[in-house]
Amino acid sequence: MISRRAALVTAVVLGIAVVVVIVVRTPWVPLPEPAGGYTPVDSTAGLSTAQVARADAFAAALRPASLVSIVLALAVSGVLGLTPLGARLVAAVARPFGGGRVAQVLLGTLALIVLGRLVTLPVSAYAETVRHRYGLSTRSWGLWLRDIAVSTAISTAITALALLFFLWLVRRAPRSWWAWSAVVAAGFVVVGSFLYPVVIEPAFNSFEPLPAGELRTDLLALAEKSGVPVQDVLVSDASRRTTALNAYVSGFGSTRRIVLYDTVLAELPDDEIESVVAHELGHVVTGDVLTGSLTGALGAAGAVAFLGWLLSSPSLLRRAGAQSPGDPRVVPLVLFLLAIGTLISTPGQNLVSRHVEARADLHALDLTHDPEAFVDMQRRLVTYNLGDPDPPAAWQWFFGSHPTAAQRMAFAADWAKLEGP
Ligand SMILES: [Zn+2]
Repeated sequence: MISRRAALVTAVVLGIAVVVVIVVRTPWVPLPEPAGGYTPVDSTAGLSTAQVARADAFAAALRPASLVSIVLALAVSGVLGLTPLGARLVAAVARPFGGGRVAQVLLGTLALIVLGRLVTLPVSAYAETVRHRYGLSTRSWGLWLRDIAVSTAISTAITALALLFFLWLVRRAPRSWWAWSAVVAAGFVVVGSFLYPVVIEPAFNSFEPLPAGELRTDLLALAEKSGVPVQDVLVSDASRRTTALNAYVSGFGSTRRIVLYDTVLAELPDDEIESVVAHELGHVVTGDVLTGSLTGALGAAGAVAFLGWLLSSPSLLRRAGAQSPGDPRVVPLVLFLLAIGTLISTPGQNLVSRHVEARADLHALDLTHDPEAFVDMQRRLVTYNLGDPDPPAAWQWFFGSHPTAAQRMAFAADWAKLEGP
């Protein structure tokens, strides 16, 4: 009983810590209000009527698919996690391999994740046909399948090994496993954010250094001017999959590099590429990845403590067909709880993300002093990526990780007003 209350108290304390870190570290007001007020948002983002109509039609074709996919995945996960069906599946797939604990955890996780993926596969295929129809996806169906197989394999491997470790801890330390697990989960989030660019990125794309030339020199100079020297400028072969434009900075310290999609090189003029890269450098300057992974670590620890409290409920375990938190048949319930926790935390994460992105935009404008290139770049991004310049407010609230293109353009206008002529 004491351990049960301790898990809940720990979860609440960590939850409060996350909220405090977010409230203190999020740049809620990146720009002061200019004299005469903020620039009104032009919902067309300067696109032609035909372009807006095309973006609207694209979004209208994809949004229902996204929602169906989320609901479907959650429903399947709920049925498996909140009834004994999932527990039976875990036992059944392990039976031909002796039915031991390790087989149950590894094969059970594999079966549950693959089943969830298969159920949503038709919706994913439909979404891919929409992207093909609008010329946004350049993937062959073979590559599409390979991408799904690789990402499913990676997430299955990570999830299965993590669950195996946690269930081992439950047996070793039946009363305090959740505390050890919380520490391990927090460490895993931090280490994962370091490993991601080294391990996951190369599984999908290959990278070439940007050849020596004016652009490379200018980009390295921008990084130098930001005070965040980078080791290299790389070009990824993103055009194998997409026509979308993107760039990012990844790695830490001596592995830090600027990565440009090859589509960016092909489509954007140099001054707009500099705006894009200056934005990415803004994330590095303000330590957004580090803050994000530390907040994520606190959140993960809190979530595991909360999980420890939930799994100490005999009625919940009974409902899932598991006998104890250390029973491998608890896996479907854990996966369902993780899925619902991720979904619930999405709007909060995106609320923070939008403000952090606005601060990176501010860095781009401060660094380049070129609001025209910034605005042109926004318009070109939203055009090529078929982004909705002004999505419905509820959609943007839940799914929007960045301010809308229309808002980002108004932001640049505010910056110019504050900067003066
Ligand atoms: Zn950004």
